[in-house]
Amino acid sequence: MTETLVPPTATVGENTPLAILFDIAAAIAVPSEDEQRKDEQREEAVTAALHYLWNTYPDTLGKALNEEDWHGMPAVPGAGLEPSAVAFLGGGLWLHHTTDVDQSRDLLTLVAPCTCGNGYVDRLLDGEWELVWILTDLTATYGRFPHNTDRPHCMSIRRFRAWSDGRL
Ligand SMILES: [Zn+2]
Repeated sequence: MTETLVPPTATVGENTPLAILFDIAAAIAVPSEDEQRKDEQREEAVTAALHYLWNTYPDTLGKALNEEDWHGMPAVPGAGLEPSAVAFLGGGLWLHHTTDVDQSRDLLTLVAPCTCGNGYVDRLLDGEWELVWILTDLTATYGRFPHNTDRPHCMSIRRFRAWSDGRL
């Protein structure tokens, strides 16, 4: 007995159960595996940032920021970017958290406008005492890093624009 398998055709016929099922599936729009993976990475990035703040900055950032302050971003493999999370602090200042996978350590960066008004300065933070020291300085400049004419770090604005525009 030879039963030939019907080859796939372009249409599934109108009002067939399969056509109805295809319509239902399209309406529910189950996220693709790729979208699900990105959502998981966003959530994990926020969780990682929160845990790091609670453990390493319990008396400053851990008190000032909540889960809803953070926005998780998926990895961008082509750009070599791991999942990360950003938090807007107000006054044009941001926190950026990611993990250095190779060295398995947390990288927390404070991003603040430069006093020259032309860009942002990013400062990798190294513990609560340093943060308090930086915040004390920033208080005097209304939340802006002093422009360094010898080595203008504010040129990094383009890098931060790239991720803040495309990945938020
Ligand atoms: Zn500057």
